[in-house]
Amino acid sequence: MSSSLRFQMVGDAFKKQAIAVAAPAAATSDYYGKYVFDRKQMSKYLSKETMKALLKVIDQGEKLDRAIANEVAAGMKAWAMEMGVTHYTHWFQPLTDGTAEKHDSFIEYAGAPGSGIIEEFSGKLLAQQEPDASSFPSGGIRSTFEARGYSAWDPSSPAFIVDDTLCIPTVFISYTGEALDYKTPLLKALNAVDEAATAVCHYFDPSVKKVYSYLGWEQEYFLVDDGLYAARPDLLSTGRTLLGHASAKNQQLEDHYFGAIPARVQSFMKEVEYEGYKYGIPLKTRHNEVAPNQFELAPIFGETNLANDHNLLIMSIMQRVARKHGFRVLLHEKPFAGINGSGKHNNWSLGTDTGVGLLTPGKNPQENLQFVTFLVNILMAVYKYSPLLKASIMSAGNAHRLGANEAPPAIISAFLGSQISNVLDKLENATAEEAIVMEDKKRMTLGVAKIPEVLLDNTDRNRTSPFAFTGNRFEFRAVGSSANCAAAMIALNSAVAAQLKEFKATVDAKIQAGASTQTAIFEVIKQYIKESKPIRFDGNGYSDEWKTEAAARGLDCETSVPLIYDAYTKPEIVKMFESVGVLSERELHARNEVKWEIYTKKLQIEARVLGDLALNHIIPVATRYQSMLLDNVCKMQTAFGKEKAAELTVTDRTIIEELSMHISVIKTKVEEMVAARKVANKIESEREKAIAYHDTVIPFFDVIRYHADKLELLVDDSMWDMPKYRELLFIR
Ligand code: ADP
Ligand code: MG
Repeated sequence: MSSSLRFQMVGDAFKKQAIAVAAPAAATSDYYGKYVFDRKQMSKYLSKETMKALLKVIDQGEKLDRAIANEVAAGMKAWAMEMGVTHYTHWFQPLTDGTAEKHDSFIEYAGAPGSGIIEEFSGKLLAQQEPDASSFPSGGIRSTFEARGYSAWDPSSPAFIVDDTLCIPTVFISYTGEALDYKTPLLKALNAVDEAATAVCHYFDPSVKKVYSYLGWEQEYFLVDDGLYAARPDLLSTGRTLLGHASAKNQQLEDHYFGAIPARVQSFMKEVEYEGYKYGIPLKTRHNEVAPNQFELAPIFGETNLANDHNLLIMSIMQRVARKHGFRVLLHEKPFAGINGSGKHNNWSLGTDTGVGLLTPGKNPQENLQFVTFLVNILMAVYKYSPLLKASIMSAGNAHRLGANEAPPAIISAFLGSQISNVLDKLENATAEEAIVMEDKKRMTLGVAKIPEVLLDNTDRNRTSPFAFTGNRFEFRAVGSSANCAAAMIALNSAVAAQLKEFKATVDAKIQAGASTQTAIFEVIKQYIKESKPIRFDGNGYSDEWKTEAAARGLDCETSVPLIYDAYTKPEIVKMFESVGVLSERELHARNEVKWEIYTKKLQIEARVLGDLALNHIIPVATRYQSMLLDNVCKMQTAFGKEKAAELTVTDRTIIEELSMHISVIKTKVEEMVAARKVANKIESEREKAIAYHDTVIPFFDVIRYHADKLELLVDDSMWDMPKYRELLFIR
């Protein structure tokens, strides 16, 4: 008896050829942003006055006038209808994964009901919508009987067209004004860091008016043939394999990394890029990653809010395009045990409206001093708020990448490299006069150490650090591949904003007390360098020694996801968020309820799927194989007599015993897991329930898997009905 589905899918997958993807006839720059209502389109469809007013809203955060909104809506509608659009939607980012949308057609009755239709799209519809959104998670802020949450236009991210629908990026808030999404607090955090950083810039350059936060994400993902995917109930329902013995060859040879991109994959990538360009997403790099069938794409960095919208959009484009090429995209952080997981490095920096990168050491010493000031403040923020940064990237999926049995650990530390570390060491031991030189009355420069202009040398790059300085930016590498980057960006930008505010207040107080600006800045920086030392670590972050050392330094080493979330509601974190006006205590508590709930639900689904797989797939197949062997043993006895048969069937009988043992352990463990789940499900508190899942349900996963994977090795390959790791990972 052969397992037909698996072999059919493997056979089909092998025969699939790359789909030819024709390059667009025009140069990329010609069709770039084709589906976006960007400044170019605005200037075509809006009057000069409207355009001017809208740009003030976008660039200077001015309030949106209803009359202006009406005119913008009219222009947008005209553009969209020329593009064949019939519907519109507010596109928002609920606290679940991904984005949400509810489409409405443009049509309205021209007059009385039944009087024929016209297309209508008013400023009111553009600016605000009330999706019946009672089933989006709100953590109790909005109970179902007052289900009104509404979405409101974010003019700083341009509208775009997907298929026949005009998508309007929006925030999503409750009727009482609390954030129910990621975008609302992100915009507030970006605003906060702008204000705080601009104020600090004024010590060095009074002409700075605005500071931008920049994000360059690197999206890692796996591709799996869609037929094989369909034959794996675990991939289908949970996005990861819950079972599966390692394949003999996996990533040991590292022959996949930067290797030639397979033809079918190359076609997929090309189409994703062409699509991405149409949405104004500046995709720059594509390559094979370390694990087999793992890949990465990354754009050129941009303003954080827009860059994040781009990331969310590209994740859905990838999923759509993959189907066409006979693939499924796996965005899960750990789809396969034993080989690399997927992350989404968040390259982050700050830059002024005058074009200066605040994390770029710069050519002249004046910029060097400004650079050091920001660098040290960021270190301080990471040091003080590291439990928050960790909470911001933690999820049921990412827990498999961080803090589980495999490296890297769930400990936040910052890598600076030897050159920058030297500069900080020198500063720490200098006097104010040595450290900061006054060029003239106003201009201060860094005196103590020269910062080399080119820091981007690859020898000094540490791949094991979760937060690494890489020459002109920090790379927050702990972010998970499926995450909304906003979670990490809200935490980081808020923390840095709060820290910069505190820095400014402390320096100003010293100046008030009579110190020179030079001395005041130096004293505070020096103290920060000393204080933030425990967070600096340039060694191997994947080593066991680091875990011990980090604990000794008093760094947060918690690995339980539900407990890691507690950071969000610690008094000092609540105070920090409130001090920069990003999230209130009520919002923070509500959002944690949602986080615990999502965590529990994910594990609940995984536990159910694992139980089903064990009982409906693994045990039946193993039992069939076992009875085949038993049949053989019996027939041997008939043929050769008891004594001789006993000798001849030693191996068979050993295997039968092993099969029995594994089957019975799996059965028992599944029963115990179900019982543990039942106990956990009865718990009221979302936090306690999540903790119960973490502490009492998860431990069964590994045990059940261990025995199921042993069975995979024992059972006749032709009977095994789920695609194996070698097939999932090497067929492309
Ligand atoms: P890696 O070697 O880590 O793969 P890449 O050169 O591919 O690095 O860049 C990763 C990302 O970092 C890209 O999106 C790139 O645009 C972005 N990046 C570069 N400089 C900055 C910066 N100053 N601020 C934010 N992101 C940046
Ligand atoms: Mg990188």
